[in-house]
Amino acid sequence: MIVMKFGGSSLADAARFRQVADLVAANDPTPRCVVLSAMGRTTDALFDAARRAETGDGDGASAAVAELFARGYATAGELLQEPEAVLAEFARMQHDLDTLLRGVALLRERTARTTDAIVAHGERMSTALVTELLRERGHAVTHVDARRVLRTDDRFGAANPSRPAIRELVAQHLRPLLVHGAIVVVEGYVGSTDAGATTTLGRGGSDWSAALLGEALAATEVQIWTDVEGVLTADPRVVAGARPIATLSANEAAE
Ligand code: ASP
Ligand code: MG
Repeated sequence: MIVMKFGGSSLADAARFRQVADLVAANDPTPRCVVLSAMGRTTDALFDAARRAETGDGDGASAAVAELFARGYATAGELLQEPEAVLAEFARMQHDLDTLLRGVALLRERTARTTDAIVAHGERMSTALVTELLRERGHAVTHVDARRVLRTDDRFGAANPSRPAIRELVAQHLRPLLVHGAIVVVEGYVGSTDAGATTTLGRGGSDWSAALLGEALAATEVQIWTDVEGVLTADPRVVAGARPIATLSANEAAE
């Protein structure tokens, strides 16, 4: 059993989504838990929309979300033979987001809790797309809502995972699905409290989600897929000549 995590840069457009599906397929028939971030820049756009709503500009926030979903609708149309179900799900998500943003705009108040409920939609978009794509390609694939397994406390925006609870919930809801050849797709970054409120682990938290699920599943490997070969000495978009680091201690990696 392995965990494969794909980040936003791996989910930038239809071609990248196909690559992700190819990489997941290449590990057939190993049971795979696929953990996904939001599509590139989606989370930033959702934060921007939330901040805009807080100023009272509900229309502006709605328009920003509409633009974001236009990209989602286009990607679904390009990627899927039968995109209808995903398109309908996206429409529901967009409607939910509109409602949340209108609420923020009406009150001109944005709590960390509301922000989490808003920004978590990015990961739900990518899991909907990848699940359907893998299904169309003939894989035995199930989407598991991260909120069913990734239990956290209520420190919204930077929630602390409860590893014992996660272990138990994974054993109950996720582990049994991962039979020979099966794939489970889960949102990274997102979790929920005991009471069912949506939380997030903090920016860039999807890698952490993958590690937590890997631990709870006793996976043999947690693979973090990204658009560079290994961990580089610097961000190659900023520093020319950045090169891969051959070995890295756990502490260095955490840093
Ligand atoms: N989508 C979230 C972010 O942009 C989580 C992640 O990418 O790991 O921070
Ligand atoms: Mg990341």
